[in-house]
Amino acid sequence: METMPQDYDVIIVGAGMVGATLACALGSSALRIAVLEAQALPVDTVPDDDIDLRVSAITRASQRIFTAVGAWPGMTARRMNAFREMHVWDEGNPTSDSSPYTPSCTPPYTPFHKGEIHFDSADIGENTLGHIIENRVIQAALLDRLRAFSNVTLLCPANVASVVIAADSMHVGLNQTGQSRPLTAKLVIGADGAHSRVRQLAGINTRGWSYAQKGVVATVKTELPHRDTAWQRFLPSGPLAFLPLHDGRCSIVWSTTPEHADRLVAMDEATFLAALEQAFGDKLGKMTASPGSRAAFPLNLQHATAYTAPRLALVGDAAHTLHPLAGQGVNLGVLDAATLAEVILDAYNSGRDIGAHGTLRRYERWRKGDNLAMMAAMDGLKRLFSNDFAPLRWLRNSGLRLTNQATPVKSLIMRHAMGLAGDLPKIARRIE
Ligand SMILES: Cc1cc2nc3c(=O)[nH]c(=O)nc-3n(C[C@H](O)[C@H](O)[C@H](O)COP(=O)(O)OP(=O)(O)OC[C@H]3O[C@@H](n4cnc5c(N)ncnc54)[C@H](O)[C@@H]3O)c2cc1C
Repeated sequence: METMPQDYDVIIVGAGMVGATLACALGSSALRIAVLEAQALPVDTVPDDDIDLRVSAITRASQRIFTAVGAWPGMTARRMNAFREMHVWDEGNPTSDSSPYTPSCTPPYTPFHKGEIHFDSADIGENTLGHIIENRVIQAALLDRLRAFSNVTLLCPANVASVVIAADSMHVGLNQTGQSRPLTAKLVIGADGAHSRVRQLAGINTRGWSYAQKGVVATVKTELPHRDTAWQRFLPSGPLAFLPLHDGRCSIVWSTTPEHADRLVAMDEATFLAALEQAFGDKLGKMTASPGSRAAFPLNLQHATAYTAPRLALVGDAAHTLHPLAGQGVNLGVLDAATLAEVILDAYNSGRDIGAHGTLRRYERWRKGDNLAMMAAMDGLKRLFSNDFAPLRWLRNSGLRLTNQATPVKSLIMRHAMGLAGDLPKIARRIE
């Protein structure tokens, strides 16, 4: 730490999936970049038998960005699985009442007003809808790539404690002892996640709410093959998703009440598998194993009131978090990173101040509308499917059935979910 340079053009706080993408997108420029990360970084190699509990459904737009910054080969060389189809359904609810579903509710489920929709990448002439990739694989591949840039310095562990604006630079103080003077930069970027310290230090507020839900994650083996399909069943307590992994298993995300989630995490394997089978139904046959640990994450909607301030910008979860039901969180963050990189490089190449608020506002205007639209859509879906009011249930299931028959509407939904709609940054428009 004693010998590291102190002055940079850009300091990125957070080397998670979004911060690392941004560093790679800026890496081939002449900018001097520091990336500060508080936590130990993931190891380069991924053990064969140990799947990360945290996986992400990566859209085609994110794939293009990872390809453009040179990190995609590092992901394919480790492991991932393409999914070509998606099956979503709302097959009636436990017969008992409208209370949140718990494992004590008994089947059979009412076949009443069954609604389902099926997406196939072949319908829009694409090979895949996206890829399921472990978070640590994404991060490790990005960090590999980042280390290859001579103008990028990765400082870890480095926990940001203060951010102070001066006339034409930002001063960033670290928690480490022995740090004689703060690091300075023309621009500081908060890529430090939902509890962003950078956002707090900049005095930027957030709006939003808790969903009063947790997402339980686990890895599960099923009797029937997953057929490279992502499966999602809507239950009154929240959606239950099965994401197809490379080794034939599925990674699940089960959104449910916090009490139920805590019970699911604490259950022994046999009880958990029985609860899962009862909740998911028989589309993948019996649940045969779920070795390893489980974890539950609180689910919130949170949106920063501003993405930028003079010499400061927020990307990824530091700017927005949303319900994981359509797997869009990190994908929006990767689009933020690609967009901000384009805005910064445009300013730099034309001799303008990369930290000027006018420069950064272009990024904010570009991304805020798209992010808000996706957050509103996910929030609306979550509410629509959580409601057990019979007429609404009939309406949504009729809607699902009608949409399933309407090819142009389905194609439009697929293109949005794949991140291929809207005003994309240049590197997301490239053909991979
Ligand atoms: C159950 C669940 C399932 C999900 N599934 C999907 C999915 O399928 N697809 C999808 O797109 N999204 C999904 N998401 C959302 C996705 O995980 C997040 O959007 C994503 O992890 C955000 O990445 P990030 O880099 O912005 O933030 P983070 O991953 O939170 O990274 C922030 C980094 O900053 C570092 N940091 C924090 N504070 C400091 C500090 N003071 N100094 C230095 N470093 C600091 C942290 O250590 C961390 O490395 C899911 C979320 C949940 C909860």
